Amino acid sequence: MIESRAIERGPKTVKSLLLLAITLIVLGLALPCSWPLAAQTAPTAVVADPPVDKQSPPGLAMFAVPSHGVELDAWLYVASGAGPHGTVILPHGLPGYEMSGDLAQSIRRAGWNVLLFHYRGIWGAGGTFSQSSAIEDTAEVVRFLRDPANAAKYHADPKRIVLIGHSFGGFIAGYEASHDPDIRAVAMIAAVNLGKINADPKEREARLKRWETQLHPVRGATAKELFAEAERHAKDWDYVQWAEALRTRPVLLLEADDQNHADMEALSSALREKSAVALEQVAVTTDHSFSDHRIALQSIVIRWLEKLETSGSEARKEHSTRTKVVLLGTGTPVPDPDRSGPATAIIVDDRAYLVDFGPGIVRRAEAAALKREIPAVEPGNLKVAFVTHLHSDHTAGYSDLILGGWTSGRTVPLEVYGPTGLQSMTEHILQAYRIDIETRTNPEGNQRRFPDGSKVNAHEIKPGVVYKDEKITVTAFLTKHAMESYGYRFDTPDRSIVISGDTNPVEETIKACNGCDVLIHEAQPLELLAKMPESVQSFDAKYHTTTAQLAELATRARPKLLVIYHTVSFPPGIAPPRLLQPKAGADALYASPEMLQKEIGSRYLGQFVIGRDLDVY
Ligand SMILES: [Zn+2]
Ligand SMILES: [Zn+2]
Repeated sequence: MIESRAIERGPKTVKSLLLLAITLIVLGLALPCSWPLAAQTAPTAVVADPPVDKQSPPGLAMFAVPSHGVELDAWLYVASGAGPHGTVILPHGLPGYEMSGDLAQSIRRAGWNVLLFHYRGIWGAGGTFSQSSAIEDTAEVVRFLRDPANAAKYHADPKRIVLIGHSFGGFIAGYEASHDPDIRAVAMIAAVNLGKINADPKEREARLKRWETQLHPVRGATAKELFAEAERHAKDWDYVQWAEALRTRPVLLLEADDQNHADMEALSSALREKSAVALEQVAVTTDHSFSDHRIALQSIVIRWLEKLETSGSEARKEHSTRTKVVLLGTGTPVPDPDRSGPATAIIVDDRAYLVDFGPGIVRRAEAAALKREIPAVEPGNLKVAFVTHLHSDHTAGYSDLILGGWTSGRTVPLEVYGPTGLQSMTEHILQAYRIDIETRTNPEGNQRRFPDGSKVNAHEIKPGVVYKDEKITVTAFLTKHAMESYGYRFDTPDRSIVISGDTNPVEETIKACNGCDVLIHEAQPLELLAKMPESVQSFDAKYHTTTAQLAELATRARPKLLVIYHTVSFPPGIAPPRLLQPKAGADALYASPEMLQKEIGSRYLGQFVIGRDLDVY
């Protein structure tokens, strides 16, 4: 009786301790912010057993996987339930003192099979060890899982193979995924970049010393020989080079405060550079082994796996979905040549719906049409636009959209929806260009046959459904900015997309998203705000959103993908205006993607990206 009570109480106590632990983790990382952070709960699979399944109970299967003349010791934690289950392969570290059994068990409880194995020449396995042979062994393990007989025997779905590896295992996981396009997804945890371990003589020395004391279970290779092997493969084994191969699949980069941090950051930058469609990067303040963050580690991995079944698959079929989001401009009033004025296109089939028309919109639209092969955003095809508010950074491309769209082929009036003042702005722009329009439509004018293309129907809106056609329903909601402002939700046959415009965090955005596919939201980094004069800080506190606030908002709004845009930032060489200078010197007001990454990633466990011009999601 006492025992059973203890068992009943167990999970509850564990759960509340976990809640506390995770809350502390989050609070520990957070800088002071006005919006209290919600407690993060550990996923059920981390803290509770699955329901008992007498028909298909979980189990442990042990077998040998043949690899190049050696039988590898392998074992499989079989998930409960009839399946077929996805399978996670956990290639271990070097030599593998940390097998991450806790992670394996959580993953199984989440409904995945988990396969562990020893490479050749380690822990008593036959053959001799090398890094190349470990790469080969992993490929053989994948082949074993894809064998139809094995798949049937272990209720495994050969199409859902995911690799998750820590340290050397992270390298192995990344290598296998980057060389096998049918690997569903990959997580690299504090992964060592073997292509770079010889790059810095000092670091090499320190690392080599460590390896020399750790390789007792390894047969057939000394630490020095392994370093020499890595040197020979330096080019192929630099995992930053794998970004192109990995960009189309879900990738989780989980970083610690260790010697691999800089390499992991370089990989994440490379993935972003290549517009990776489903990159999730989380930095945890802990040691290489995550010794004091094992629950956090499991929680992050389980949440990521849970999302694979939904957002991951959507991200993967990015170009086959009917609806796409194209970032035409992710900037602010700062004249950053890499970030055009705010403008976003929601594409459904062959139609484009714009949100905002910041300066540069027409040229960015043409660039997207050419470089991303999206004809719907040809300037002549832009016929419907929604404005979040009338600040110039969001509207200075209006005349170009009207007139440039017309001369590029639009033959019908532009339909524009937005706040009070839009009609007046429209009339004045048309008036300002009266001579141009008259000249182009006079008997010699090149647009004389299409006079309607220069016209605009401006609609001043109220919250609620503001637009509907057979492809899309657009709902406006009030946001909180320095003037009348709206966010928009777009519902299409296959996706839901919400965009914030410039705003303080508001409940309406959370309600509008509520598990939406994509949330596009502005964010201002805390580190940068701290360097701004008081007047700017108080303006932003009222009318913009900090990274910490966005993390909190997104945690509650639960988008499948969060896209961050409209971050005030002065890249190196672009001088801030005089108003901003007293508190910050030259180049001090640059919000690097890494800064945003860190501030959001340490507070938000969901999938997010720092948007860049011409990204497609
Ligand atoms: Zn703005
Ligand atoms: Zn604004």
